[in-house]
Amino acid sequence: LREEEAISPDGLSVAQMREIRDRAQNFTFQTEVNRMMKLIINSLYRNKEIFLRELISNGSDALDKIRLLSLTDRDVLESNPELSIRIKAEPERRLLHITDSGIGMTRHDLVNNLGTIAKSGTADFLSKMQDAEKQAAQEMNDMIGQFGVGFYSAFLVADKVSVASKHNDDKQHFWESDASSFSVAEDPRGDTLKRGTHITLHLKEEAADYLQPDTIRQLVKKYSQFINFPIYLWASRT
Ligand code: ADP
Ligand code: MG
Repeated sequence: LREEEAISPDGLSVAQMREIRDRAQNFTFQTEVNRMMKLIINSLYRNKEIFLRELISNGSDALDKIRLLSLTDRDVLESNPELSIRIKAEPERRLLHITDSGIGMTRHDLVNNLGTIAKSGTADFLSKMQDAEKQAAQEMNDMIGQFGVGFYSAFLVADKVSVASKHNDDKQHFWESDASSFSVAEDPRGDTLKRGTHITLHLKEEAADYLQPDTIRQLVKKYSQFINFPIYLWASRT
């Protein structure tokens, strides 16, 4: 029981974890997505820190989308009026949480955007990456931003990634993956997010440094100083 508690993401009880496991639908990543993930993990191991930039930029994109919608339909913000990104480290459980109150993802979005549909740039990206394999890590780093394959960079530092997401048009759903396959289930906690996306990274042992408030603060400054939404950092005392 203890062990299960230790690995359950923020706010999920052991019973709820079991409920998710029982109800979840399992998927395999599309072949191209799989290749992409392997390539990212193998070529960017010296640039692991970019994961935070990629996840913050996704949060910012999602916030841009809901703000844009709100210009024509003010009601869309009612589900959660705040527009922000929150980062929280839990060193005791080696978890890093990144939460945004952006547009969120429906069940359909979670399945398609985080797993089965390789974007049009993917094939291009794969071949460019192969050409570049002998080039400097910095160039690869630029390329990953340019081709927008950001989300999977989470697996540079995490052996498991959980995503809870709430879109105005659907109930809250829970996505989880260990990089080999993924599952999606309705979230037994209900619509706790109101609107937005909560990503939990189950950090690898060697990535524990990303739980340090100073490290996170430095990375946010380095990569995300031009994000147009407030970024809050919450750190528990160790
Ligand atoms: P890109 O950002 O270039 O589209 P990513 O791999 O970073 O590529 O993300 C894939 C897709 O997953 C995004 O296009 C978006 O539809 C969805 N997504 C990822 N993170 C979020 C988030 N925090 N909120 C809403 N949608 C997201
Ligand atoms: Mg992105």
